[in-house]
Amino acid sequence: MFALAARELGYRILIYSPENDTPAGQIGDEEFCCAYDDLEQIRAFARRVEVVTFEFENVPSLSTTAAAEFAPVRPDGRVLHITQNRLREKTFLEGNGFPVTPFRRIVTLPELEAAARELGLPAVLKTADFGYDGKGQTKLTDPAQLAADWQALRGAEGIYEAFVSFEKEISVVGARTMRGEFAAFPVFENSHANHILDVTFAPAAIPPALARQAVELTEGILRKLDVVGLLTVEMFVTTDGRILVNELAPRTHNSGHLTIDGCVTSQFEQQVRAVCGLPLGATELRQPAAAMANLLGHLWNEREPNWAAALAEARVKLHLYGKGQPRVGRKMGHLTTTGSSAEECVARVLSARARL
Ligand code: AMP
Repeated sequence: MFALAARELGYRILIYSPENDTPAGQIGDEEFCCAYDDLEQIRAFARRVEVVTFEFENVPSLSTTAAAEFAPVRPDGRVLHITQNRLREKTFLEGNGFPVTPFRRIVTLPELEAAARELGLPAVLKTADFGYDGKGQTKLTDPAQLAADWQALRGAEGIYEAFVSFEKEISVVGARTMRGEFAAFPVFENSHANHILDVTFAPAAIPPALARQAVELTEGILRKLDVVGLLTVEMFVTTDGRILVNELAPRTHNSGHLTIDGCVTSQFEQQVRAVCGLPLGATELRQPAAAMANLLGHLWNEREPNWAAALAEARVKLHLYGKGQPRVGRKMGHLTTTGSSAEECVARVLSARARL
C-alpha cells in the first residue's frame, strides 16, 4: 500500500525483504531478496536509493545503521531501536512523562514474584522483544501459578505490566516532517478478536477533550523521538476516563488502513510525503465516518471467499494484499466503507464480511 502511494506520486520503489514475491515486491520496481541482517546487501540496496523507510519494526537496528551510511533512514534507527523492545519503549515513555501502566523488567522468578507483590494481580507478562498481535503474552491471575507463567518466557527478558481495566482501545497515526510539521489522522477506535485487530472505525466514540488529549500525546511523542515519517500510538481509554499509552509502532498501522478510502490523504501517502521531504497532506475524513474490517486467513477455509457477495454492497471497498498462503490469523486484506455515522459504517463492513 505504501508502494502504491509512492508510485502514484511518481517515485520508483526498491523493496528489501527476506522473501520474494512479497506484496510490496509485486508493486515495486525491484525486489532485493536477502536477510535483514546481511549488512553487505543492505549497503548495496541503500546505495541505489535516495531514502529508506520501513513498514515492519523487527528489522535489526544495526541494519538501519548500515543503510544510513548511504541514504537517510526515516524514521531513523534510534526510533526503531526504542520501539522494537517493550521495556525500552515503556522506559522512554515513562521517563518523559507520557502515561503508561506501571511495569517492571523481569528475567528471574524472584523478580516476577516481587513485581506481583508490588504491582498486584491481574497483570500481563510479555516478552520484551518481537511481540505483536498478542504473541508472547500471558495474562497472570493466580499467585500460585507464577512459576509456571515465568516458564513461558523461556529465559527471555520480559515485562510485567499491571492489568489495565480499559473501556476501549484507540490509536492515533501521526506524521512529522524534517521541518517539524505535525499532522494526525482522526482518532481511531479499535476492537480485537484473539488479540488481533478486527474492526476499526473513525472518529472514535470518545469526548472531544479526550480525543484532543490523544492527539497531543501523539504529537509530544513524535517530537520527543524526533520522528521524521509516521508513528502510531496505541492507547487505552481506562474505565475511569484516563488515557494510557500501550504501544508505539514507528510506521503506518493496520488501524489506519481506513484512511485509504476514508481520508483526504491516506496514511501511506502521508508516509511517502513525510519521508520524501514533501509537505503533509490533509488528514480529515471525506465523510462524517469510516470503518474497516480485517480479512484474516481463516476466511479462506479451503476455498476463495465470495468477493462478489461482499461487493454487492456498492459502498464497500475491498483491499487484498497479494499474500500467498491464507494461514489462520494472517492478515490477508480488509474491507472499508464511509458514511454518515460510525454505527452505519461498522454495520456495513460487518455485513459485507459475513457474506464472504
Ligand atoms: P500488545 O501486543 O501490547 O498491543 O497487546 C495486545 C492486546 O492485549 C492489546 O490490544 C490489549 O487488548 C491487550 N493488553 C495488552 N497489554 C495489556 C494490559 N497491560 N492490560 C490489559 N490488556 C492489555
